[in-house]
Amino acid sequence: MSNNDLLNRSRNAVWHPCTQMKQHETLPIVPIVRGEGPWLIDADGHRYLDAVSSWWVNLFGHCNEHINMRLREQMEKLEHVILAGFTHQPVVELSERLSAMTGGALGHAFYASDGASATEIAMKMSAHYWRNVGRNGKNGFVSLAGSYHGETVGALAVTDIPLFREAYGPMVRAAATVPSPDARRANDGEGAKDVAVRAARALESYLAEHHASIAALIVEPLVQCANGMTMYDPEYLRLARAICHRYDVHLIADEIAVGCGRTGSFFAVEQAGIWPDFLCLSKGISGGYLPLSLVLTTDQVFDAFYDDDVTRGFLHSHSYTGNALACTAALATLELFERDDVLVANQQRAQWMATAAQALVDHPAVSHVRQRGTILAFDVDARPGFSRTFYRQSLKRGLLLRPIGNTVYWMPPYVLDEDQCDWLGRQTLEALDTALA
Ligand SMILES: *Cc1c(COP(=O)(O)O)cnc(C)c1O
Repeated sequence: MSNNDLLNRSRNAVWHPCTQMKQHETLPIVPIVRGEGPWLIDADGHRYLDAVSSWWVNLFGHCNEHINMRLREQMEKLEHVILAGFTHQPVVELSERLSAMTGGALGHAFYASDGASATEIAMKMSAHYWRNVGRNGKNGFVSLAGSYHGETVGALAVTDIPLFREAYGPMVRAAATVPSPDARRANDGEGAKDVAVRAARALESYLAEHHASIAALIVEPLVQCANGMTMYDPEYLRLARAICHRYDVHLIADEIAVGCGRTGSFFAVEQAGIWPDFLCLSKGISGGYLPLSLVLTTDQVFDAFYDDDVTRGFLHSHSYTGNALACTAALATLELFERDDVLVANQQRAQWMATAAQALVDHPAVSHVRQRGTILAFDVDARPGFSRTFYRQSLKRGLLLRPIGNTVYWMPPYVLDEDQCDWLGRQTLEALDTALA
């Protein structure tokens, strides 16, 4: 089947996500038939470097040998079983392993299949916790300006991105927003930490007044990815943790994008030396293979639901909760972290990325080149429509990059070598120059 055949049929039969379908009258859909490490290969044999990890999910390349092998083995034993009343080895091992990775701070794992569901599970658990301990009024939420926590109706409540929320506003009980500690907000003579302290003060004054009706603060630790890779100082997380304790408000860390090593540590909150009350994982946790999400929480929260009374239990479920194949993909992913000492290897990779971005730092249209771990981003002074023009130009060069507005970013899988990082830098610069011309 040729590229053209596939893309025409896709345009007719498939409603693509986050897309004005009419744009595909002129913007081609790329039909991928094969993946190989960081490369995606289309029906005509063109190769694209997947520098956005296929929407931030892929960690160890496409068709990874180890994950493939583990999935094949598991498939011959058990693909899925109802998780109410039943259990299986992959889900037990994954839960134990993740708990151990938090040093036991977050000892219980609840499963779903996508990130937005994990957000909603954390929100429901938090509000239900307060109800179970006799504080019925605490069911409101606070999120950061520019936050993104998913697009289902419940998750949209804590997603502060107008493009995603506008049409559905009337369906949503919007949360309160407090200022983002965005490091770009630093005034002359200030550093990222000063911005963090200022934003934390605003959080404190909000909670001082409203804590009686607030269940939780939800944050994307260190990087607000969907809002154009907004980066901030870990000090904000330390202060927010202390403020939430002071006002009896839960802290939900949405690590759906930033977890699994993206920021340099396995969990982003580790860089602040704190643990939240709830931690959401999805995207990379299954290596980018299968839909899986989960919420980790504390003994304290778990115990507040543990009772003879059924209605005090957490009565939430999804059909594919704890799917055995998805959990196996996650275990295989964690095995790779250990086997290949990935967090250490990524320090080198992050350095290669920084070097590859050097020519961009000096570019007159580029500002705020920023990096946290293996996420690197910069802002471009360009006319509206830049992101689509740039996307097209990068595709022409065999590169998959999707700018968010005027922010271009790299979030590649943990398999790029030094030459590939260098190539990524040169192609990005060429695509940028052509898009701006
Ligand atoms: C992607 C994302 C989500 C939503 O996950 P889905 O699987 O797309 O529903 C939530 N929070 C953050 C921080 C994300 O990046």
